[in-house]
Amino acid sequence: MRKKMVAGNWKMHGNLVENKQLLDAIVTGLNGLYKVNFFVCVPYPYLPSVQSILQNTNIAWGAQNLSQFERGAYTGEISASMLNDFECRYVIVGHSERRSLFGEDSQIVAEKYQAAQRAGITPILCVGESLEQREAGTTEQVIEEQLATVIKLAGVESLAKAIVAYEPVWAIGTGRTASPEQAQDVHSFIREGIAKQNVNIAKSLTILYGGSVKASNASALFDMSDIDGGLIGGASLVANDFVAICRALHQ
Ligand code: PEP
Repeated sequence: MRKKMVAGNWKMHGNLVENKQLLDAIVTGLNGLYKVNFFVCVPYPYLPSVQSILQNTNIAWGAQNLSQFERGAYTGEISASMLNDFECRYVIVGHSERRSLFGEDSQIVAEKYQAAQRAGITPILCVGESLEQREAGTTEQVIEEQLATVIKLAGVESLAKAIVAYEPVWAIGTGRTASPEQAQDVHSFIREGIAKQNVNIAKSLTILYGGSVKASNASALFDMSDIDGGLIGGASLVANDFVAICRALHQ
């Protein structure tokens, strides 16, 4: 049985007051739901307060990035062991905004993935194609390269302790969602590709869809056989929307 999950990616949003209001409403809205793993990936400075609000609830927390290095002269960076100090269970690696705005290539993403796992933190490995790549018919090639770099460094078995998120870049924050069939096609491509290397890992791998998921389209996406949940950006900042998406998966 694959784990079903909904993760919120707050990006660079929030403040102490808003976060508390948002989380209090989410905790209430998701109270008693245990069939799905819920978590939020928050900006670093809020980890201590988020930890104290979410401790002893059914919602976990994590970060949106980490350094590939363990420690040293890397001004401005945050290591995996620092995330462990705040009991982060998850960390996003390779989000398309990191890849496109901060120059993270697949090799750096793979190193970050490995750094997270070394510290016992589950990486959420984001993969996805741009609009140009989709239109050029290279979606599968792009995703294959993004995954292969990680597998080459960390081994296919490492996926037993990871989550993959398919996030078509053209659907992130644009309001334009992949259709359930488009998303399913890529999810099954990912699973089949991994199955060629290890069937059991492929069967048990949680693959999330991300890209303008809303309360109104969540159920149709989650009904697809290879979509095991969602990575939610904008809608994770609105308590009612996030709760509705989480509930859509829980049903
Ligand atoms: C994301 O940032 O991972 C994301 C999927 O954003 P949105 O839901 O806003 O498209």
